[in-house]
Amino acid sequence: MAKKATVYKNFINGQWVACKSGKTFVNVNPADTRDIIGHFQDSGPEDVNAAVKAAKEAYKKWRLVPAPKRGELVMELGLWLKKNKERIARDATREMGKILKETRGDVQEGIDCSLYWAGEGRRQFGETTPSELPNKWAMSVRQPIGVCGLITPWNFPMAIPTWKMMPALVCGNTVVIKPASLTPLSVWNLVKGAEEVGFPSGVINYVTGGGRGVGTPLCDHPDVSLISFTGSTEVGRQINLACAKDFKRVGLEMGGKNAVIVMDDADLDLALEGVLWGAFGTTGQRCTATSRCLVHRKVYDKFLAMLAKRAKALKVGPGLDESTEMGPAVDEGQLNTDLEYVQIAKKEGAKLVCGGKRLTGPKHKNGFFVEPTIFADVTPKMRLFKEEVFGPVLAVVPFRTFEEAVAMQNDCLYGLSGAIYTRDVNNAFTAMRDIHTGLCYINAPTIGAENHLPFGGVKQTGNGHREGGKEALDLFSEWKAIYVDFSGHLQKAQIDTDKIVKVK
Ligand code: NAD
Repeated sequence: MAKKATVYKNFINGQWVACKSGKTFVNVNPADTRDIIGHFQDSGPEDVNAAVKAAKEAYKKWRLVPAPKRGELVMELGLWLKKNKERIARDATREMGKILKETRGDVQEGIDCSLYWAGEGRRQFGETTPSELPNKWAMSVRQPIGVCGLITPWNFPMAIPTWKMMPALVCGNTVVIKPASLTPLSVWNLVKGAEEVGFPSGVINYVTGGGRGVGTPLCDHPDVSLISFTGSTEVGRQINLACAKDFKRVGLEMGGKNAVIVMDDADLDLALEGVLWGAFGTTGQRCTATSRCLVHRKVYDKFLAMLAKRAKALKVGPGLDESTEMGPAVDEGQLNTDLEYVQIAKKEGAKLVCGGKRLTGPKHKNGFFVEPTIFADVTPKMRLFKEEVFGPVLAVVPFRTFEEAVAMQNDCLYGLSGAIYTRDVNNAFTAMRDIHTGLCYINAPTIGAENHLPFGGVKQTGNGHREGGKEALDLFSEWKAIYVDFSGHLQKAQIDTDKIVKVK
């Protein structure tokens, strides 16, 4: 802690450079705000312009590098992450608070993602199809789009940047990445790795700063062809509007208010582990966090008591301590939001079962720690039922029938993840069909997505694109249909076809 904090720079056109204004912002450890992680560039539009210019220039060559070769570099970056996993996970815990076990998982997701996309360098399949005319060839191929602006949140500081960067690069695009101001070090690590494994200058550019200072100019820049954003629905809406005026392609991954259904026939011990992990893992700061727990009346009192007992016993503390089970809120703003929702829920008549307070003991007093909190008897009219808290505040809601539970699941502005615990195969399959979300789990918590499957949500969680899996190709590449006529004379589609064979 006594060490002088490092000043980290932007990475533009293969060079580490200070922003034009010379301003910086400070990054601190949310578990102990006396721990200064570093100073980062508080960039502005002029720095965005320089980064986009470099990315545009690099695109001319990068798009022509064979995709398998682009994939090889992505693989090298994945292997670099693997080699540096522990150090990078520690940096991530230090800058955003979640426990080490989880940041190791976050970096692992970056590794998995890189290796998956390395393979996609040898796929990116198009189709060949018969032409309606003789001596003519027809096929479809994927093409890169150009410069991609990547805007990322703080809660998965390594996984989410890689979900965007790796497919973008393998498809032949160049990128400018703007990390969340609360987690610039994790993305700095990723970009440092890219430099070390030898990505050509300008292919990956990194610009730190605020949403208004860097995010907005990136969205408005005429030479940026695509924006891929993960963050709140409120900011996603602004980005969508900004991109609409130039018909810029935009992929949006936004908020969630995910529910788990616990049926009366569920294995309650299994459901308990899943709900605890879903609600309090990452201090509830996951887009897929379990924030509503819908419990069948017949097991309501019993399950609530089981849940409260375990939530009260969770060990809250600094994430770097291996024995900690839940880390701090990411910053003072998030801590205040958590506490504000405690007051809102109380006022609306929900029953506080446990938690609800800031922790101020010796190991907590310099950080943003809040107790794992459970409210019971929450109803669909309450704000705690409807609004994303993004903290460790769980709403428990009773129901009487399976149909009522599914209706409550879907009574939500968002549609990211849904889960059900049941031993009834009919209910499980009905839930798979009727829960209106992009992700659905049976006898597992609302969290736990894997890299090779499509990730994203419906309603106000997303705009129809998916990250993860081969489906991400559709965001980061453009289809081109190609026709090759080797007949040597003009053939007119739809017109000359009648001459070929008379069909009765
Ligand atoms: P945020 O919306 O505040 O910020 C996300 C990013 O957008 C940051 O880099 C921020 O600096 C930037 N930004 C802010 N204003 C901007 C603007 N006007 N123009 C361009 N960029 C701007 O979100 P956050 O607090 O970092 O993350 C939490 C939110 O992210 C939650 O709502 C959570 O549900 C959501 N999230 C969604 C997913 C998903 O895949 N659906 C995953 C993780 C997080």
